[in-house]
Amino acid sequence: MAEKTIFKKIIDKEIPANVVYEDEQCLAFYDVSPQAPVHVLVIPKTTELRSVNDVSEDNADLIGHIFCVIKKLAADLGIAENGYRVVSNCGPCACQTVPHLHFHLIGGRDFSWPPG
Ligand code: 5GP
Repeated sequence: MAEKTIFKKIIDKEIPANVVYEDEQCLAFYDVSPQAPVHVLVIPKTTELRSVNDVSEDNADLIGHIFCVIKKLAADLGIAENGYRVVSNCGPCACQTVPHLHFHLIGGRDFSWPPG
């Protein structure tokens, strides 16, 4: 069996996290190394999706649900009106460090474009 990722350990409550939202399908918690005043990670509970590369029609309902949660959290955390980013780093060139699909919800400051 593959070794658990840090996110799977958070899902299984083996290591603590500052959880802001949880349901049967997904979990949202504050990033341990925030890049903005609001920096939350939203992840599916399944370990089958390692990155956006594993998104398909088979899990489209789950991904749609996660985006509904992201939208709700942006409103609840007070960043919806001014704007925010939803980022999913996919693969080594994009600096993905945890091989469990996750979406960064970041806001509370101005951003620049293009990203680094
Ligand atoms: P990635 O670089 O894969 O796109 O994002 C992984 C994110 O997970 C990083 O922003 C990193 O700070 C965060 N992270 C890594 N380990 C932990 C942890 O143990 N707890 C929390 N809350 N976030 C973590």
